[in-house]
Amino acid sequence: MKDWRHFTETSRIAYFSMEIGLMTEIPTYSGGLGVLAGDTIRSAADLKLPFVAVTLISRKGYFLQTFNDDGWQQESAVDWTPEDLLELLPIKTLVTIENRDVKVQAWLYRVKSPTGGEVPVLFLDTDIQGNQPEDRQITDYLYGGDKAYRLKQEIVLGIGGARLLQVLGFRVRKFHLNEGHASLLTLVLLNHPHLSVEGSLEEGYSQHIRSVQEKCVFTTHTPVESGHDRFSYDLVSQVMGDVVPVDLLKKLGGEDEFNMTLLALNLSHFVNGVAKKHGEVSQAMFPGFEIHSITNGIHPFTWASPYLIHLYDKYLPGWANEPELLVRVDLIPDNEIQDAHAGAKAYLFQWIKETTGAKLDLDVLTIGFARRATAYKRANMIFTDRDRLLKIGDGKLQLVFGGKAHPNDEYGKQMIQEIFQQEEFFGDKLKIVYLPNYNMDVASRLIPGVDIWLNNPLRPLEASGTSGMKAALNGVPNFSVLDGWWIEGHIEGVTGWSIGPPPTETNTEVNHSDDDVQDLYKKLEETIIPLYYNNRQEWTKVLKNAIGKNAYYFNTHAMMRRYVTEAYLR
Ligand SMILES: *Cc1c(COP(=O)(O)O)cnc(C)c1O
Repeated sequence: MKDWRHFTETSRIAYFSMEIGLMTEIPTYSGGLGVLAGDTIRSAADLKLPFVAVTLISRKGYFLQTFNDDGWQQESAVDWTPEDLLELLPIKTLVTIENRDVKVQAWLYRVKSPTGGEVPVLFLDTDIQGNQPEDRQITDYLYGGDKAYRLKQEIVLGIGGARLLQVLGFRVRKFHLNEGHASLLTLVLLNHPHLSVEGSLEEGYSQHIRSVQEKCVFTTHTPVESGHDRFSYDLVSQVMGDVVPVDLLKKLGGEDEFNMTLLALNLSHFVNGVAKKHGEVSQAMFPGFEIHSITNGIHPFTWASPYLIHLYDKYLPGWANEPELLVRVDLIPDNEIQDAHAGAKAYLFQWIKETTGAKLDLDVLTIGFARRATAYKRANMIFTDRDRLLKIGDGKLQLVFGGKAHPNDEYGKQMIQEIFQQEEFFGDKLKIVYLPNYNMDVASRLIPGVDIWLNNPLRPLEASGTSGMKAALNGVPNFSVLDGWWIEGHIEGVTGWSIGPPPTETNTEVNHSDDDVQDLYKKLEETIIPLYYNNRQEWTKVLKNAIGKNAYYFNTHAMMRRYVTEAYLR
C-alpha cells in the first residue's frame, strides 16, 4: 500500500462534514446528512476526482437503539475500535479551546473504487495523551452534549481540520462545507499568513474575504431558521477566544448571535440547496445571497440490492459507474425484475424473522418507512384514522418501520412508542414491525425488500430526502408528499404516487395534515392496492419506471458532475 503522502501530490477538493457514513462498522453518522457525505465520497472515488474528506471520529458513535417493553427508546454508546479500521497519521496540530492548547490528530481511511480512484478520509480525534480528560472527550459523541460541547467539536472540525490539512502538506483547491458545522475553517483561511493585513481592519480583510470566498463552496441542508447552529458571543469568546477580531466576526457571523450558516454564506462564492424546492426556500430565507440548487443523490452500487446488481450487470453492463444506463431498464424482461424484487423481499423477511421473530407474508403488499424519528417526518401519520386504515388494509397490507429519535427528542420517542402500541390494535390483520437500530445495514436490507416506500414529511421541511432514491434504484416506487427531490422525480402513476396537494400550494405556515391523510388513504384504497393485487403487469411498469425515470438521474455520480462543473471549477 502506498504511503499516505502521495495524496498530497495533487491539489484537492477538501470536503468537510460533521458526520460521514461510509459503512455500518464506522458508526460516525446519524442519518441522511452523513450517508449523503459517504455516498458523495464514494462517487468522487469512482469518478477519480481529487478529493479529501474531513470529519470527526465520534468514538462513541451516535448511539445504539434498543427498546424496553413499553416501546420506549433506550440509548447506549456504540463501541467500536478505530484502531482496527483506520491508520493513524503521524503529524498533529493544535487548537485553542478555553485558553488551553488541545492536540488534534487524524486517522485515515482510504475509500477505494474499482475504477482505481481513491479518496482519503480523515477522522479527527482529540483522545490523545497530554490533553485534559475533558478535552479527550470532545470527539466522542456525535450530536451529544450541550452548546459548549458542540462549539468545541466545531472548532476541532473547522479549525483543527483546516490546520491539519496544512501541516500534513495537503494542497486544497476548494473547501466544500457540507452544512454549517465546518464554517470555522473560514477563519483559518482568513488568517492565512501570506495574506497580510494592511490599512484599516475592513480594508485589510476585504481582500482576504474575497480570496476566502473564492476557495469555499457551501451546501446548506436545513430549510428552517431554528435548524442553523448559533452561539452567543459570550460562549464564543469563552470557548474559542479571538481567532479573528470580534468586530470582524460579528460582521461575518451576525451582530447578536454567532450564526454558523451566516458565516458560511458570507465566505463562500457558491452556495446551494439540496433540491430545486429547497434552493427556493433557502433563497427566501437568505434574500441577500444567491442560492443555487444541486439535487442530492445516492451512490448506486452501495444501495442496489445484490439481486438487482446481478440483473443490472447482465443487461446494463457498466451501469455502476455510468448510472445513466439505467434509463434502458426496459431491456430487462418483466419476469426477471419481478423475481429479483421477490428475492430482495424474501431476504428481508427472513432477516426480520431472525432478528425480531416477526413473520411477514411474502404475498402481502408491504409498505416501508424508515428515517430519523423527528416530528416533521410524521412517522405515525398513517395511523391518524386507525379504523379506516384497518378497513382498507385488512389482510392486504403490512408495515415495516425503522428510525432513531435523537436522545433529547421526547416527541420523536413518543412517535416511535405510538407505532409500537399499534401492533396490539391491528394484530394479525395488518402486521406492523418496528426494526431497531436503523443504520446503513438495516437500510440496505429494508428498502429494496418492501413494495412501496412511504414518505410524508411536513412540507417544505424535507430539504431533499435520499431514502426514496434508494427505493427507486431497487424498483420500489415512492408514495410521498410532494417535497424535496420527489417534486422533481414524481410523475403520478408513472414513477410512483404523490400524497396531498401539489408543491405550488406549499407555504411554511400551512400544515396540510388533513389533506395529506385523506389522500394517503384514498390512493391506497383506490389506486395502489388494486394495482398491486389485480394488475401485476402494470405494477411492474411502475417498478421499472422508478429505475428508468428516477434512479438513472438521482444518484451521486450525476450530482458530483454538477458540483464539478457548477461549483468546484468556478
Ligand atoms: C438514506 C438514509 C437516511 C436518509 O433517509 P431520508 O428518508 O432521506 O431521511 C437516513 N438514515 C440512514 C441509515 C440512511 O441509509
